[in-house]
Formats: sequence, structure tokens, C-alpha cells
Amino acid sequence: MNYSLRRNKVDPKMLYPKQSFYSEEYLNTHCDLYLTTNYVKDEWGKSHKYYRLHASQPHTLDTALGYEIQCPHCHNRTLRQIGRALSMYDLGLFVCPDCDSKE
Ligand SMILES: [Zn+2]
Repeated sequence: MNYSLRRNKVDPKMLYPKQSFYSEEYLNTHCDLYLTTNYVKDEWGKSHKYYRLHASQPHTLDTALGYEIQCPHCHNRTLRQIGRALSMYDLGLFVCPDCDSKE
């Protein structure tokens, strides 16, 4: 599942995900920022749901680190960054501390 991200008008660092049925290619052309879901198996075989933040414009490391993203699943928590940016466009890897411990 992919998510488009809407910025908070008052605080543009706050990002709200919206479920999107568009492809990643479409989101890349039409959205500044979007999330993709990454399922990763850990060394004990447990599956984790992580989110990768993507940007259509190049980001510096500082800008990329400044975002606060609401969890697309529980809408309750801010996602925690657990992985570094891969490039100026493929930014950090995130997890929801609540949802991940429940699954
Ligand atoms: Zn959550």
C-alpha cells in the first residue's frame, strides 16, 4: 500500500498520510512526499511493517530528518525513524512503535 502525504498548514513538518491506490510512479510525479509500505522479516522470522518516505524533490539529510509523520494505520502515533535515507529522494525508513509491537 502507498500513501500520499499532506502537510499540516500551520506546521509543514507534520505529515498526514492518506491511503492511495495510485502507483508509486504516479505519486512520484504528483506528490511532493509519499510513503510506501515495506515488509521486512527480522532474523527471527517475524514480519515487520515499515514505511519508506519518498520525495519527488531532492532533500538534504537535515530536511529529511525534520519530518513528523502520523502513523497511517492507527493515526495515533508519530512514526519513529529506524533506517537511514538511501538517497536524496528515498528518505528514511519508519516504523510505528505501537502497531509494530501488536502485529
Ligand atoms: Zn500505528
